[in-house]
This record gives sequence, structure tokens and C-alpha cells, in this order.
Amino acid sequence: MSRWTCGIDGCDASFDDVESAIVHQTSEHQRHECKVCGTIVPDGYFAIRHAFDEHTRAEYVRAYDADSEAVRRREDVKRDVEAEADLQTVVERLDGGL
Ligand SMILES: [Zn+2]
Ligand SMILES: [Zn+2]
Repeated sequence: MSRWTCGIDGCDASFDDVESAIVHQTSEHQRHECKVCGTIVPDGYFAIRHAFDEHTRAEYVRAYDADSEAVRRREDVKRDVEAEADLQTVVERLDGGL
């Protein structure tokens, strides 16, 4: 059984399901300002998804002064989350204020 850890700024909150982890990241943490375009997005998974769906790796690396290892780590997180998460459930729980 996989456990999901928040991971934002060393936050070690952990969850049995990925949806709870994303809800936590979105509701308990400060929002993140994208360094490429300035959009305010929830930190954690949504920030990663924004960065890699909306921008190229090259833009990300330049704006965040990231190396390819950092990019790979985030792409792995995104893939793992998307393989497991029911994002519709996440959105409904966020809309419900939970
Ligand atoms: Zn956290
Ligand atoms: Zn952006």
C-alpha cells in the first residue's frame, strides 16, 4: 500500500491516498507564483502540472534555475500522481471545502 508524502518545503504530512495528499497541498499550503508566467497556482501537484503542461522544460529550467535531475523528479511525481489520482474527486473535495 503506497503512502503519499506532501513534500512541499520539507512538509512530511503523509496520506494513504493521493487525492488526500493533493487536497492537503492545495488547501494547507501557500499558493505558488509561477516563475515563468506569474500565474498563481496551488503548490504541489498543481504547480508541477502547470509548469510542465504550460511551459517547456527549457523555460522551467531557466526560470527556476533547475537542473535536469530536478526536472526528472517533478516529471516522475506528475506521472505517478496521474497514474493514481482521480482528479475529479480532488476537485469535488476542494469545491466542497474539505
Ligand atoms: Zn504539506
Ligand atoms: Zn506559468
